[in-house]
Amino acid sequence: MVKFEGTGLHTGRPSTVVLKPAPRDTGIVFIRTDRSTIVKAHIGAVVDTAFATTIGYNGTRIKTVEHLLSTLSGIGIDNIIVEVNGPEIPILDGSSTELVSIILDAGISKQGKKRPYIRITKPIILDDGHAEIMAVPYNGRRVTYRIHFKHRIFDMQNLSLDLNEEVFIKEIAPARTFGFLKHVEMLRANGLAKGGSLDNAVVIGDNGILNKTGLRFNDEFVRHKILDLIGDFSLIGYPIYGHIIAERAGHSSHVRFLRKLLSSVNSWEIGRASCRERV
Ligand code: ZN
Repeated sequence: MVKFEGTGLHTGRPSTVVLKPAPRDTGIVFIRTDRSTIVKAHIGAVVDTAFATTIGYNGTRIKTVEHLLSTLSGIGIDNIIVEVNGPEIPILDGSSTELVSIILDAGISKQGKKRPYIRITKPIILDDGHAEIMAVPYNGRRVTYRIHFKHRIFDMQNLSLDLNEEVFIKEIAPARTFGFLKHVEMLRANGLAKGGSLDNAVVIGDNGILNKTGLRFNDEFVRHKILDLIGDFSLIGYPIYGHIIAERAGHSSHVRFLRKLLSSVNSWEIGRASCRERV
């Protein structure tokens, strides 16, 4: 069992999360213990994608699940119970570093079963006029992400990586949530970012970042976008073998792409690999 607590980035509400081992074929299952509601982490459970990914069932919601999901996917955990006693997963330092270390400290057990994965066999493309996401056949798991900002210091960032646990832990997990100072008021007016601070997000002002500790990578923002993508894409329930290329994307387009992928049944096939859980 693993336990952590903290404040939600958007709701500003404190919560405690308990991770419990689960038998094979469970998948990632969230339980809102204060509402006695079970929400399976799946694309069909997504109820909101504005500035975070929110899953829910019957009116009970769990906000900002993407960083925890990314961590579980990034270190290869397929089956787990996530109990949370509030409406949002704590943001911690805005990255996945702490989550990786507490889960690895607890240990991960192999469950001795081949688990299914999706292998992309033909290109799948989503282009909504702003965001573009595609998946193309590739012998492995590769992600390319490009972001473009209208900012005089931070304009374009582009990163391509072959994904495995080591790459996730070193290159992706430490990258923090970020936002523009000029958007903070708008977010707060919409009831978001109430728990946001320089301790859990990189804030970009006109003349650079406001955080005195600096950046963890020169291209930390595109790395965090990959962290978010890994979390959102895990909602499909299967690892994807292929090359995912995303440009100007975000939670909403990630989820729209996954729905398109699921319906593009002639563009992928199911294979099988080993299966693990956390203990
Ligand atoms: Zn994020």
